[in-house]
Amino acid sequence: MSNPIITIAIDGYSSSGKSTMAKVLAKKIGYRYIDSGAMYRAVTLYAMRNGMVSTDHVVDCNALRAALPNIKIDFNVCEDGQHTMLNNEDVEKEIRQLDVSNNVSQVAVIPAIRHALVAMQQAFGIEKGIVMDGRDIGTTVFPNAELKIFVNASAETRAMRRHKELLEKGQQTTYEEVLANVMTRDHIDETREESPLRCAEDAIVLDNSTMTINEQDAWLIDRFNETIAKHK
Ligand code: C5P
Repeated sequence: MSNPIITIAIDGYSSSGKSTMAKVLAKKIGYRYIDSGAMYRAVTLYAMRNGMVSTDHVVDCNALRAALPNIKIDFNVCEDGQHTMLNNEDVEKEIRQLDVSNNVSQVAVIPAIRHALVAMQQAFGIEKGIVMDGRDIGTTVFPNAELKIFVNASAETRAMRRHKELLEKGQQTTYEEVLANVMTRDHIDETREESPLRCAEDAIVLDNSTMTINEQDAWLIDRFNETIAKHK
């Protein structure tokens, strides 16, 4: 009997390593991978470029809501992985910069933005066979996902990993700056009214603070195999 095709939701805190594990799993099992955070980042970049975000991170919600029909987000598969496209422009590098990280959670609290992006995410997953990572995938986007994972690690561990990653990409930031960003985003994501960051009741929790990437990848493939066996 052939394997059932399922939906996999991977949620968790900022820089918890969920994208890394989601990407590896998707490649291994031949599923599509969607980084929902990249979609919020692309909308944020659009807002910043169009003067809708002030220097103290206040977003002009009305202007951004009105601009929604002009914002098209897609993904292109490139040699070095998936690139986020904003109105047909490759913005993969730009959306990962700290200035976008410093505004993205403020954009992600806006209900109209969430509704639009959740609808796009559900459309990406309509045929299943998808691994999507984010904050509300198991609770709001795919509440019926067969496999839900919730990833966590201490804020310090996450900031250390993220800081190292940014330095490797040539972005000059301090550990303190990254830690402050991670903690601010956690707080906004957890306390917003519309689909806050929350562990779904039926999610499997993974604290990967002391795990290597290989260990976490192996752990995830085991959870996938168990889920497939259950749904056969
Ligand atoms: O995953 P990443 O850290 O790139 O996400 C950036 C931000 O986008 C998060 O801090 C959060 O505010 C928002 N986000 C969200 N819901 C998702 C994915 C991301 O609110 N499903």
